Amino acid sequence: MLRAQLLDRQAQRESAARTYARTIPVAPVAAAGAEVTGADGRTYLDCLSGAGTLALGHNHPEVTGALREALRSGAPLHTLDMITPAKDAFSEELLGQLPGTLRHQAKLHFCSPAGTDAVEAALKLARNATGRQGVFAFTGAYHGMTLGASAVSGPERMRGQLTDAQPVTRLPYPYGYRCPFGVGAEQAGELSARLLESFLTDPSSGVATPAAVILEVVQGEGGVVEGPDAWLREVRRITAEHGVLLIIDEVQTGIGRTGYYWACERAGVTPDVLVTSKAVGGGLPLALIAYRPDLDTWQPGDHTGTFRGNTLAMVAGQITLRTVAQEQLPEHAEKLGARIRGGLRDLALDHPAIGEVRGRGLMIGAELVDPDAEPDRLGSLPGNPRYARALQAACLERGLMLELGGRGDTVLRLLPPLVLTDAQADSVMNRLTDALTDVERAA
Ligand code: PMP
Repeated sequence: MLRAQLLDRQAQRESAARTYARTIPVAPVAAAGAEVTGADGRTYLDCLSGAGTLALGHNHPEVTGALREALRSGAPLHTLDMITPAKDAFSEELLGQLPGTLRHQAKLHFCSPAGTDAVEAALKLARNATGRQGVFAFTGAYHGMTLGASAVSGPERMRGQLTDAQPVTRLPYPYGYRCPFGVGAEQAGELSARLLESFLTDPSSGVATPAAVILEVVQGEGGVVEGPDAWLREVRRITAEHGVLLIIDEVQTGIGRTGYYWACERAGVTPDVLVTSKAVGGGLPLALIAYRPDLDTWQPGDHTGTFRGNTLAMVAGQITLRTVAQEQLPEHAEKLGARIRGGLRDLALDHPAIGEVRGRGLMIGAELVDPDAEPDRLGSLPGNPRYARALQAACLERGLMLELGGRGDTVLRLLPPLVLTDAQADSVMNRLTDALTDVERAA
């Protein structure tokens, strides 16, 4: 069936809430590594990789080989949360890759296979283990679409309803480019951590000690915004001193994406609860939390779900976890990411609409602004959603799939597979450069 027909039928049949399907009107029919072929016969470089899921790219031969073998073996594909050899092997591999004191020690809880359910589980575990109800979360955060997870997220449309007995207190994320304090990321990190400490120590703060603080080390959907290491270490110190659990959501940053196996490792911080999904399942749906064993005080059935033991996801996940470590893909991501960011910064010199280039490893963002507009009182130029949308479309025309994020979708986001080659990275830059010229010519 032709691309246009597929897209028309999708538009007739599927929900108005669909997203990527609208902004990236490709009907993928084949894919390998960082390349996707659409029903129109065109090949695209994939810098979206399933919203950061495909660490090893599409159809990595070791993953597909192991999946074929699992299917051939007659192993049960669906086992609720019963143990299988595939699940045991996955757990062994994951436990060996966890950060800091969680390594080989953590308890694992397998969730329904979406990041958002693992966030729900983390919040529930924290409330259970501490007996407290409140949670501190950050501006600009994205933790998922279910009610508990969206209640700790930033955007208005996502704000879920928790009961009054489960309050969420918002702390400012140290977003340097649009700094809430007008002082830049490092100092904002200090102030944000000081505010956290003051909430916990001032008897008149009006805020009850929470069960947990939840954060992303690099905010992904929030626009590739990095929290400084010193901020993260301070949050860790303060939470530990006050018996507040630190939940780090590594759904997007985990498994090598940021140049470390886990993003929290760069600052030498270990969370009490680590949330993982996306790449952990090797492209198949899988989500879980790994946490300090002494927190395991909840009871059978406190957090369940039908799909917590998908054999194919365990197989694909185990191979992905192992391959990322064996092939030193975090180091590769760091090197290649630095090169791409360097190229983007060079482009920014000629294209003032690129306000800032940032990111870690192969989690890269370029914030797009209106250079002709008046800066705000803090000196920031307003974001440029129309330019961002036009650039995304021009990239697609040039055969480059990528995503937007951040406030008003004004941040161009690159999340290529970690196996992206140097030549492919050059091609990404060339296509992006041409797309920028296309957009500016059309303006
Ligand atoms: N946490 C983070 C940091 C995410 O980036 C996402 C998804 N983009 C989620 C949670 C939610 O994951 P899912 O879409 O699988 O529910």
